[in-house]
Amino acid sequence: MAFRKKTLRDLEVAEGDTVLVRADLNVPLENGVVTDDARIRAALPAIQELRGRGAKIVLCSHLGRPKGHDLDTSMAPVSKRLGELLGMRVFQAPEVVGPEVRRGVARLDAGEILMLENTRWDSGETKNDPQLARDLADMADAFVLDAFGSAHRAHASTVGVASLLPSAAGPLLEREVTTLEGLVEDPERPLTVVLGGAKVTDKIALIDRFLELADQLLIGGAMCFSFFRAQGHETGNSLVEEEGVELARRALEKADSARATLLLPVDLVIADSFSADAERKELEGVDVPDGWMGLDIGPRTTQAYAGEISRSGTVFWNGPMGAFEMEPFAAGTRGVAEAVAGTLATTVVGGGDSGAALARFGLADRVTHLSTGGGAALELLEGKALPGVEALDDA
Ligand code: ADP
Ligand code: MG
Repeated sequence: MAFRKKTLRDLEVAEGDTVLVRADLNVPLENGVVTDDARIRAALPAIQELRGRGAKIVLCSHLGRPKGHDLDTSMAPVSKRLGELLGMRVFQAPEVVGPEVRRGVARLDAGEILMLENTRWDSGETKNDPQLARDLADMADAFVLDAFGSAHRAHASTVGVASLLPSAAGPLLEREVTTLEGLVEDPERPLTVVLGGAKVTDKIALIDRFLELADQLLIGGAMCFSFFRAQGHETGNSLVEEEGVELARRALEKADSARATLLLPVDLVIADSFSADAERKELEGVDVPDGWMGLDIGPRTTQAYAGEISRSGTVFWNGPMGAFEMEPFAAGTRGVAEAVAGTLATTVVGGGDSGAALARFGLADRVTHLSTGGGAALELLEGKALPGVEALDDA
């Protein structure tokens, strides 16, 4: 399906025009240093394209969840890393908006970049405050939204500013939306969807939608215990989301007549505590004994899931199969990650913890598409409109 919004290709930018770019530069920091620059690198195509056209770039993003001006969440380390990647100085503004920021913009030459401070330092950001949107828009001639990871939120720097300037989607946003929509609209079959992670409530809308759209739904992670509880199995001390049990029961019922086959684990890895040095054993079956908890899918399940993945035409994976951050419980997630990386099928991985797992196993560049947006990717796949995308000028 064609992209319905203006893209960077369609946007008129003359040499010396100022373009406000909202990117998703919400990266992990440790002691003031960026520890994973993937999101910064993902924003480079938009930035390079605009520099090539001689634009002055005013770049902005949120970072973390500050409750106001908070130097621990300054964009300065991001500016530094971006500067290293581009081989040029990226200027850092002291605030989100204001007179000093405007002076910084006025000093920019064509091709130069000024990074605004963390948009969440301004309380107007998350409220989509019209005054903040106006202050942002006043600095620029055009607006580019490239922050896929924030496109599901109607904030001043995503939605508010878009209606005040000529606006377009950046290349990352365009690729994310096109790829994810392609997954539901016209996938090469069979389409296999692998869902894991902590909570059924987070994923129930996806489960419902993919029961109709996919050919197979493979369930893992702590989420499976809501299903097991609904089926009457013993779950021991496993993490069971009570609210999820009724949802799981309904999904099981729906699965009887749905297009997709719903598969649950047939064996588990269990432990006597939630710890890397807990006593660990492989359990035949899924009835978890008293005093034990399920922390990973078992080897037979992993093998079965890997087999289904390798026979698929398209695979979407979201959510780890177990507590993969602890090595003794990482095998299921690793097995799924390796199968996804190893197949010739179109493979799409949702952001969040499944993306972190892929990176940890060194497989992040072995999939067709690793989404930069966890929440945004899920909402798009659930069939919801993303406010950030809706707000952009139509093509
Ligand atoms: P995502 O971010 O990919 O959507 P979630 O945030 O829903 O995934 O869940 C990821 C978390 O769930 C991970 O921190 C992982 O350790 C945890 N998890 C997965 N399986 C289990 C389990 N069986 N018991 C406890 N925690 C689990
Ligand atoms: Mg998560």
